[in-house]
Amino acid sequence: MQEIIRQLLSELGEDASREGLLDTPKRVEKSLRFLTGGYQADVDEVLNNALFSVDYNEMVIVKDIDFYSLCEHHLLPFFGKCHVAYIPNGKVVGLSKIPRLVDIFSRRLQVQERLTNQIAETILAKVGPIGVGVVLEGQHLCMSMRGVEKQNSVAVTSAMLGTFRSDARTRAEFLELIRRPKTP
Ligand SMILES: [Zn+2]
Repeated sequence: MQEIIRQLLSELGEDASREGLLDTPKRVEKSLRFLTGGYQADVDEVLNNALFSVDYNEMVIVKDIDFYSLCEHHLLPFFGKCHVAYIPNGKVVGLSKIPRLVDIFSRRLQVQERLTNQIAETILAKVGPIGVGVVLEGQHLCMSMRGVEKQNSVAVTSAMLGTFRSDARTRAEFLELIRRPKTP
């Protein structure tokens, strides 16, 4: 990978052998491997020992999860907040595992729509709730840096499954709860 990055630097009109760029290929490789580390991650391993039987059937919400991903069309970052909710059906997942799942799918080349769906579908498949809702609010540098859109525009995507799709009140409760400002 480092040789390809050196070639890329030359193609861009740079002198890849100048001091400031000498270690850049190594750094870029390391950073790209980290930012796409989701391909190597195993969902089942992350959720291992983190599913618990409970007698709780109200909505569980984890909101304002930071996510950072790379747009697959331009290899530029898109990032923002992810909100996840589900209604358990006898089983809950450890709360800290939800941001881990978000990381697994965001550390890949993505489009925001697919990222949103993958998070929702995975929770549906692995936790077996009666419904899942996921909302992502993302800022895309491929839009703002290239001047395609206004600097601060945010793309919002959502995936509603199970009762979150079939029951308007459940969906409304979720959307209302994530709109509420953070408690200090
Ligand atoms: Zn893009």
